[in-house]
Amino acid sequence: MDKKKIKISVGIIGILVVLLIIFAVYDNICEFGGCDNFKSKGSNYCEDHKCIADGCTAKKSPGSNYCYYHVEENAKKYEEEDRLELSDSQIEEIKRAIKEYTDNLMEKQDNILAVNLLGDVPSSAYKTGITFNCNVVRTDSDTNLATIYIVMNSDGSFKVQSLMYDNQ
Ligand SMILES: [Zn+2]
Ligand SMILES: [Zn+2]
Repeated sequence: MDKKKIKISVGIIGILVVLLIIFAVYDNICEFGGCDNFKSKGSNYCEDHKCIADGCTAKKSPGSNYCYYHVEENAKKYEEEDRLELSDSQIEEIKRAIKEYTDNLMEKQDNILAVNLLGDVPSSAYKTGITFNCNVVRTDSDTNLATIYIVMNSDGSFKVQSLMYDNQ
């Protein structure tokens, strides 16, 4: 081999080694755009950009500490935890509270002729609030769908918060 060929070979090997080092470093950098942190173990993202759920290696979703999958899972979990199982007697109690509220409402607003509950059970029941669908019959129109919002007090009694027309 002449000297020229050796020089070229050494040069090529040198360039390959540099490329390999650059690639190795680059491969260890968080894949989140603009982030220079090293990847967290087993993840393509750094500690700052990785979902904080135990053992999850996915990227955080925008505005959250969790990836899209865990954002959804958490929402489902909270919804389950918040769901209220109402007994028949509790539902009766809610209906009594609603009747008291609507009787009062009709006394104050004489254009309301009746408030009819749609269905025998609440349309939704969570610790944060219970809703009942209803139809409000008024002197000007007889089909006004509305929602009655009820909350459970800390002593277990129920209180109507408001009645809101659905399309207003
Ligand atoms: Zn990062
Ligand atoms: Zn996750």
